[in-house]
Amino acid sequence: MVVQKKDTQAANEQTPKEPLDVHKPESQLTEAQLKIDQHWMLQALLLADRAAELGEVPVGALVVLEGEIIGRGWNQPITQHDPTAHAEIMALRDAATQVGNYRVVNADLYVTLEPCSMCAGAMVHGRIKRVIFGAYEPKAGVIVSRQHFLQQNWLNHHVAFTEGVMADLCGDKISHFFKMRREQKRLEKEKNRLG
Ligand SMILES: [Zn+2]
Repeated sequence: MVVQKKDTQAANEQTPKEPLDVHKPESQLTEAQLKIDQHWMLQALLLADRAAELGEVPVGALVVLEGEIIGRGWNQPITQHDPTAHAEIMALRDAATQVGNYRVVNADLYVTLEPCSMCAGAMVHGRIKRVIFGAYEPKAGVIVSRQHFLQQNWLNHHVAFTEGVMADLCGDKISHFFKMRREQKRLEKEKNRLG
């Protein structure tokens, strides 16, 4: 398809310059909402354990619509041989199947770790209302760490976000997993050396 330069210019002129305000900081949530967010985050943490049981990085996610869980997911790319099998994608697939629609309108997504670019994109496609994440991901997180993906004004749907809910607990689970894995590797090496 040939895009005429004129059209592109017009589109740029219509685009507001300021990033969109979709940020819903924890500090601005009502106490009742914060309690609700913490409740669901704890449930997402339980799902993260399922990933750990598979030897996968423990990240859990769930989709909530009108106070009910409609989608559950945990990180499983290695066991599924699927680079897209992040917790958020699994939860979105589950939720979309549940509602029988490729869009999950008005639902919130809770995830224990800041989403990557793939998952943030999928949430826009899935029309998620708000994403609530726990631990920050300085290497690949695109909600606040590497970029502010959801605040791009060219997006055709805007997902609100709340960052850092139970961040310590969510982060500890991941650090503990890596610590255990390093220890396991060290013991294997030792065993082979003594072999
Ligand atoms: Zn992801």
